[in-house]
Amino acid sequence: MEEERGGGEVKSFKELGVIEELVEACDSLGWKNPSKIQADAIPHALQGKDLIGLAQTGSGKTGAFALPILQSLWEAQLQDRAAPAFFALVLSPTRELAIQISEQFEALGSRIRVKSAVLVGGVDMVQQSILLGKRPHIIVATPGRLVDHLSNTKGFSLRSIKYLVLDEADRLLNEDFEKSLDDILNAIPRERRTYLFSATMTKKVQKLQRACLRNPVKIESASKYSTVDTLKQQFRFVPAKHKDCYLVYIMNEKSGSTSMVFTRTCEATRLLALMLRNLGYRAIPISGQMSQDKRLGALTRFKSGECNILICTDVASRGLDIPSVDVVINYDIPTNSKDYIHRVGRTARAGRSGVAISLVNQYELEWYIQIEKLIGKKLPEFPAQEEEVLLFLERVSEAKRLSVMKMKETGGHKRKRGGDGEEEVEKFHGKNKKLSNNKSSRRR
Ligand code: AMP
Repeated sequence: MEEERGGGEVKSFKELGVIEELVEACDSLGWKNPSKIQADAIPHALQGKDLIGLAQTGSGKTGAFALPILQSLWEAQLQDRAAPAFFALVLSPTRELAIQISEQFEALGSRIRVKSAVLVGGVDMVQQSILLGKRPHIIVATPGRLVDHLSNTKGFSLRSIKYLVLDEADRLLNEDFEKSLDDILNAIPRERRTYLFSATMTKKVQKLQRACLRNPVKIESASKYSTVDTLKQQFRFVPAKHKDCYLVYIMNEKSGSTSMVFTRTCEATRLLALMLRNLGYRAIPISGQMSQDKRLGALTRFKSGECNILICTDVASRGLDIPSVDVVINYDIPTNSKDYIHRVGRTARAGRSGVAISLVNQYELEWYIQIEKLIGKKLPEFPAQEEEVLLFLERVSEAKRLSVMKMKETGGHKRKRGGDGEEEVEKFHGKNKKLSNNKSSRRR
């Protein structure tokens, strides 16, 4: 396998060999110069090589695989007069990421009139079949739903696929997807180009690479488990019973910043969002339990700045294109250390600075030690006087009590409908406007 480390002077998209139509599209998206992963990957991809890219969301990896595919589609169109349908398949582990990838394909391919279809769960299958009937060039799919279509949508096949992209391959390889992934690999031609992108190189990814890729060029946008220098990482040992209080203290200290708060469970995202909103913060939950529409809605409200605190599970920690987060809080310490890297990777992106604070209780110590081992450093403590933190205790306890009550009231009903925390938080917030409007006096 060739190793590509890049370096040298920055080349323009044109100098990398990208055609005028696509350079113009990059320009109109405000992409002046290629990102590192793009500069490293595009020339090899244009030469027809398979790629393996170690890169995270935020590196510009979507452009790195979309531009060569679009260019090849354009060339095929010139030869055959019409662009071939079902030309490329991109597999993504999450619906949100699939939608973002499809949007980037359409934006970059606007001048060559590319059509893409997104096949993800939580959306009507019939609607998606109609889309497939229009013979899109690019399919972006989550594995489960794609397999559903392969078995149930008449006339749909992947036999003409020329490009396969496995995005976030480390996550595609979790047990939920393994069987679907096998079915898909059996349904597409062996004669194709394959691009595999992954944030981490696990044994399973290596196995997949051996099975799927031919003599690939390897590109790394950053070293494996490092966290960037502009990221300030801190931890704080806290008793489990005071964790909420510490969270509110930090939110108060960082008020005005955009924050992501990570929890282990979907329930916890809802509970914390209820609690924080009750205390006057603009918090919004996002988790796998919410319907697709609600997840996208929550994300839009966070992106637009209407809400500045996103409470999420690890489902939301990767793949989402969230432009700038100032603070990441690990409210729960991840049991899988690599999730820590993904979580804190939401801040301090593209040279900006950011802060990540981990709240570690007596039950989470072991997982925290694993994290320090993985990143290879001991982190400094988040400075706070406990007496000052505990000044919040009474209000936090009351807000938590009300939130728990609200969760109990709505819990069963929500679960039946697939649990959308957002609506519930909204209603609760409305009822408690008085409390939340008082926030500045209470917070002082
Ligand atoms: P990705 O890592 O592919 O999810 O991309 C992260 C973000 O970077 C997206 O919002 C892209 O629109 C943006 N982006 C990708 N490539 C470039 C580039 N060359 N210049 C500026 N922004 C870019």
